[in-house]
Amino acid sequence: MRVLVLGGTGEGHALARALVEAGKFHVVSSLAGRTKSPRLPPGELRLGGFGGAEGLARYLSTSRIDALVDATHPFAATMGRHAAEAARAQGVPLLRLERPPWRAVAGDNWREVEDWEEAVAVLRASARRVFLAIGRQELAAFAPLAQVWFLIRAVERPDPMPPFAQAEVLLARGPFALEDERRLLVSHRIDTVVCKNSGGSAAEAKLTAARELGLGVVMRRRPVRPSLPTVSSTEEALAWLAALGSA
Ligand code: NAP
Repeated sequence: MRVLVLGGTGEGHALARALVEAGKFHVVSSLAGRTKSPRLPPGELRLGGFGGAEGLARYLSTSRIDALVDATHPFAATMGRHAAEAARAQGVPLLRLERPPWRAVAGDNWREVEDWEEAVAVLRASARRVFLAIGRQELAAFAPLAQVWFLIRAVERPDPMPPFAQAEVLLARGPFALEDERRLLVSHRIDTVVCKNSGGSAAEAKLTAARELGLGVVMRRRPVRPSLPTVSSTEEALAWLAALGSA
C-alpha cells in the first residue's frame, strides 16, 4: 500500500517511522520545505508545495497513492483544505492525524482569541512584558505594540525581522522542560504568554509554568478544518490503514 503522509510535525514523523517499521507500506512523507534543517523522517521524502488542491490531486494520481494521511499542524489550515479536496476528487481515503487541543484547567488564566488582531487588542490593554511563542512567520501583527517588550522564541531567526520597538529573539527547538520554562518566564519578568493552541506535550510546559506563576495566557483557537475521520495516535492511524488494506 502506498501511503502519502503530509507532515512537518512530530506526529507525521512518528507515523512515517511506524509505517516503515511495519514493512507492509511504501511511505512518502511530504514537507513544506520551510525550515532549513527539518527532522527527516524515514522512507521516501518529497519537499515543497504541490501547487494547490489540483496539484495534490495530480500527485495522488501519478504517484498511485492508495491512502492519504494529513498529519500537518492543526494551524496548517490551507493544506488541510487542499488535502480534503484532492482526496475527494481522486477517491483516495483520507485520515486526519491530529493531537488534541490543550484545555484550560483550574488555575489557568487564559484569554482565547480567534486571530492575532484580537490578541493584539488584549495585549494593548493589559500587557507589558510578553513571551511570544508563535513561531517566526506571523510576528508582524505584534510589532506596532511599541509599549510592550517581547521575548520571541522560534526555531529559526525571523527573516525579515518585523520592526519591533523592544524585542529579544531566543532561538530554540522543543521539547521544553517545565523547570526551564519557569526560569525563562521569571528571569524575563514575563506577565503574559501568547501562543497557538497547538496541543501535544513538547510545548505544554510553558502553560504549566504560566499557571504556577499566575500569568495571563493569550491562546489562539485552532482554525476550522474539514470534517474528516480523525485519530490522535500513531497506533490508531496504523489500525485505520490496516483495515483499509484488508477491505
Ligand atoms: P498552510 O498554510 O496550511 O499551507 C500553505 C501551503 O504550503 C500549502 O497550500 C502547500 O502549498 C504548502 N504545504 C503546507 N504543508 C505542506 C506539506 N506538508 N507538504 C507539502 N506542501 C505543504 O501551512 P503552514 O501553516 O504554512 O505550515 C507549513 C508546514 O509547517 C506544514 O507542513 C505544517 O505541518 C508545518 N507546521 C506548521 C505550523 C503552524 O503553526 N502553521 C507549526 C508547526 C509545523 P501548495 O498549495 O503549493 O501545495
